Amino acid sequence: MTYDPGNIFAKILRGEIPAFKVHEDDSVLAFLDIFPRAPGHTLVIPKAPARNLLDVEPADLSKVMAVAQRIARAQLTAFDAEGITLTQHNEPAGGQEVFHLHVHVIPRVAGVELKAPLSYKEEMDVLAAQAERLKAALAA
Ligand code: 5GP
Repeated sequence: MTYDPGNIFAKILRGEIPAFKVHEDDSVLAFLDIFPRAPGHTLVIPKAPARNLLDVEPADLSKVMAVAQRIARAQLTAFDAEGITLTQHNEPAGGQEVFHLHVHVIPRVAGVELKAPLSYKEEMDVLAAQAERLKAALAA
């Protein structure tokens, strides 16, 4: 279990590929999942390299979770959510596909099932508008 700096979230952190960022501070970045399981599906990652829960520094994990809470609260208003689902996968056997620690923060509405992972790629203009809504809710 080693950290591979070629993973796609490391590329986003280095600015090598774009992302719809909704929060950034010294330690944490949050951005929209481009294959959302529900509208507003957001990923929260530490800036420090960590493969997953098993190797992350506890202080970095704490900062990630604090931002996940802020995102969750903002999603309630930005996406008229009635609940929030957090998921977090570790190693292939645990469902992990991108090997930089990330927490999924997913707005939920009663009776609406999550889309299957990677089943739907959202339109870029829709993601851009959703990122603006979430950023506005975070700033409120
Ligand atoms: P995992 O299964 O590792 O917990 O989740 C990886 C997530 O990364 C998936 O939800 C997938 O949709 C998302 N993802 C994969 N490639 C990209 C990308 O290029 N940009 C963004 N924003 N998300 C991605």
